[in-house]
Amino acid sequence: MTATAGRIARITATPVTVPRVSPFRSALGLARVTSFGIVRVETDAGLTGIGEISMIWNGEGAVLCSLVEGVLAPPLIGLDPFDINSAHLRMDQAVQFSRAANPAKAAIDMALYDLAGKALGTPVCTLLGGRVRQSVVLSMSISIAEPDAMVAEARDFVARGFRGVKVKVGLDAAHDVAAVAAIRAALGPGGVIRIDANMGWRSAREALTMIEALVPHRIHSVEQPLPPDRLEELAWLRRASPIPIMLDESVWGPDDAARAIRAGAAAMSARQGACAMQHGSSRSRRRPASNARSAACPNSASGLPPPPISLLRCRNSLIRVMCAACSTMPNL
Ligand SMILES: [Mg+2]
Repeated sequence: MTATAGRIARITATPVTVPRVSPFRSALGLARVTSFGIVRVETDAGLTGIGEISMIWNGEGAVLCSLVEGVLAPPLIGLDPFDINSAHLRMDQAVQFSRAANPAKAAIDMALYDLAGKALGTPVCTLLGGRVRQSVVLSMSISIAEPDAMVAEARDFVARGFRGVKVKVGLDAAHDVAAVAAIRAALGPGGVIRIDANMGWRSAREALTMIEALVPHRIHSVEQPLPPDRLEELAWLRRASPIPIMLDESVWGPDDAARAIRAGAAAMSARQGACAMQHGSSRSRRRPASNARSAACPNSASGLPPPPISLLRCRNSLIRVMCAACSTMPNL
């Protein structure tokens, strides 16, 4: 089978910057554009696999294109594209001890799986052990704005078929409570509302005060209330909080996931649908999911509007990878 795929002959990475339909504001800042990278792995047999560097917040996806072409790609030239484990060893030798490189490695990983799936005529989930569910439920994120605008956006997403929304909070307490209350009133009791503070709260006590204020609005989960390394405070908050705590920025790989679980710092782990890049590969992406299953710590997924290519390619590899990985995802 591998003979038909040939050898890796060329790897390119193309930065893409797209103006957003509207600016997106969170506790991380204001995003006016989405900058990411498209990775193409080509073989001498004429096959092409496509991956995406989807760290969209600060343009890392575009910036990392030079890392792909200049550092990660050269050791992979001539390799059998099915030797994905070897590809990771070579990439890890090329760039060690760097979380920042994970999204670039993940894009190559995604392209290799895409290529392998095309070569074999099979979905990527089959290569990863088979699908465990037929679909993945996503929520879409609501930018911080005037509450009326946030309500309108939430209504729009629900009308388009999303069964849940994730409301960005963390900049202004009174605004956040008013906005979440308005969205709950608009969606009714059945709509799923998650919130994401993106590390915007300064202490566990401040976070708990906010969480308690939001309890009447039936919040599904609270994502990343504190900075990533404050696991002891997150563990205290998890014990005290009446709403499950979900971690995102704290989990950049299997070791982070294990540390968070050991610390009792999270009830759930978030993986942005289009930004599931932090782990560096679909294999390590599965390990936190596996760890989480063992610890009864579900994974979840969401996306930022407008959805980048990964979500638009939902019939292709990425979502199928996620289907295999997210077997404990709650049915939002
Ligand atoms: Mg998040």
